Amino acid sequence: MYEVIFFGYVNIGDIMFWSVEFPKFHVPSFSKKLDVAIIGGGITGLTTAYYLKDSNLKIGLFDKGKVASGVTSKTTAKITYLQGDIYQRLGSRAKKYFLSQKEAISELIHIIEKEHIDCDLEQVVSVLFTLDKANIYKLDEEKRLLQQFGCYPFDIIDSHIEAGFGIRDSYVFHPLKYLKGLCKTLLQKIDFYEDILVQNIQKNGNFYVLKTTSGIFEARDVVVCCHYPFFLLPSYIPLKTYVEREYVNVCKMKEHKHFSAINIDSELHSVRYYKNYLIYGSNQSRLTSKINYSKNYQKSIADFEKYFKKEPQYTWMNQDIVSNDLLPFIGKVCPHLFIGTAYRAWGMTNGTLAGKILADSILNRKNQYITFFDPKRMNMSLFYHSFLGTFHYMKVYAQSLWKKNNPFYIRINGIIYAIYEDEEHEIHRIRLLCPHMKCNLVFNSFEKTWDCPCHGSRFDLDGKLLEGPAKEDLKH
Ligand SMILES: Cc1cc2nc3c(=O)[nH]c(=O)nc-3n(C[C@H](O)[C@H](O)[C@H](O)COP(=O)(O)OP(=O)(O)OC[C@H]3O[C@@H](n4cnc5c(N)ncnc54)[C@H](O)[C@@H]3O)c2cc1C
Repeated sequence: MYEVIFFGYVNIGDIMFWSVEFPKFHVPSFSKKLDVAIIGGGITGLTTAYYLKDSNLKIGLFDKGKVASGVTSKTTAKITYLQGDIYQRLGSRAKKYFLSQKEAISELIHIIEKEHIDCDLEQVVSVLFTLDKANIYKLDEEKRLLQQFGCYPFDIIDSHIEAGFGIRDSYVFHPLKYLKGLCKTLLQKIDFYEDILVQNIQKNGNFYVLKTTSGIFEARDVVVCCHYPFFLLPSYIPLKTYVEREYVNVCKMKEHKHFSAINIDSELHSVRYYKNYLIYGSNQSRLTSKINYSKNYQKSIADFEKYFKKEPQYTWMNQDIVSNDLLPFIGKVCPHLFIGTAYRAWGMTNGTLAGKILADSILNRKNQYITFFDPKRMNMSLFYHSFLGTFHYMKVYAQSLWKKNNPFYIRINGIIYAIYEDEEHEIHRIRLLCPHMKCNLVFNSFEKTWDCPCHGSRFDLDGKLLEGPAKEDLKH
């Protein structure tokens, strides 16, 4: 039997695969007046702070938990510009996106070298492959585009795949050792406010007022790096994005291999090594109310065993945000309010890029990507999927209302409640509305949680918040 050490939000045995002890952050002044407030201590927030640290601005970085405890702590941390079939999907925007990823890799390596960050950085061959003959044409097209951009991809011959090619200028690292290294450069330069949830931001004259669980703070500039933005306006990001969930399995192998790989087919297989641990990502799926958590989880384990003939030692699930037009949202959403999100599971490059763009925007420095990733951009393709998603959701939800099973749904004075009876016959009641943007929640029968199919917030059976963007528990 395999031992599930970490799955979803239940951390059995309290062992995480990426695990590093961070310094204790001393907050020198606990000043409530800041020049820049950064919300979120993942790769985006810490990189933004890094690029701002020598500006003489008074900077505070807030995290609702500990720094580096969000999505970045559960990533697979491949640093590459081979990102599936992205270049053919981006059309005329492909070349610029390619250049941005190359630049992000250079920036990341530059920071690691300049700051002597010991994060097990390793240059590896990054491979793009297919397991399906029918997709060889897609692979060829991606290779052709890369050659057009000036790269030298080379063919990979391997009996396990139908076809594949590789590039050499890509890397892997230990994401938390990297974030710890960034933090060390920030000590004494910025204030860390851990375990403080930012609940609301409001403009008041020349300042933003941040309502937090530790009282009110004021800041001239606010940078929202909390993975999922907790507001709709300005810029409607929640309507222009969706959430994708992926399973990661890890096992110790006999040897360490010096490559990372991802396929181009509809069913994801992603591989990298850390020392001689094999890290395998699979079963990526878009969050909808139809998602079958149990099936996806079991399949991720079965795939691991099928391909690597071993049982996983570590298993976890993680989710990332995808914009409907595939490009991240990075930059100014309105005067003095900035955001970096929707990296499509490529946050090592895009989070780094975001840090640079956001700092340049605050310091009024030029940056060639400011318009390219503009979070205010609007076009039909950005909203199309949201309309489809909403329609689908309403349909499934309406059906669930007249099925009298467990959970049982009931409407009282126009408000819908869900009642669930667990195996011990204990009754759990919640109000079905996600406090974030009022989407109706969907029961995740496998993990026994209430999940938001629109934006990925999750709650336990009694409505206790497990994962944002929501900021509060469910009402009973
Ligand atoms: C399974 C999986 C594998 C991946 N593999 C790769 C890969 O190989 N290569 C790659 O480039 N990318 C990869 N990614 C993507 C990458 O991990 C993410 O895009 C990136 O880590 C996001 O970083 P972030 O800083 O935006 O968010 P986070 O790391 O989540 O940081 C956000 C922080 O904000 C805090 N926060 C949230 N709300 C509030 C609030 N209201 N107040 C205060 N604090 C708040 C959170 O506690 C958190 O610490 C992967 C993603 C997934 C899901």
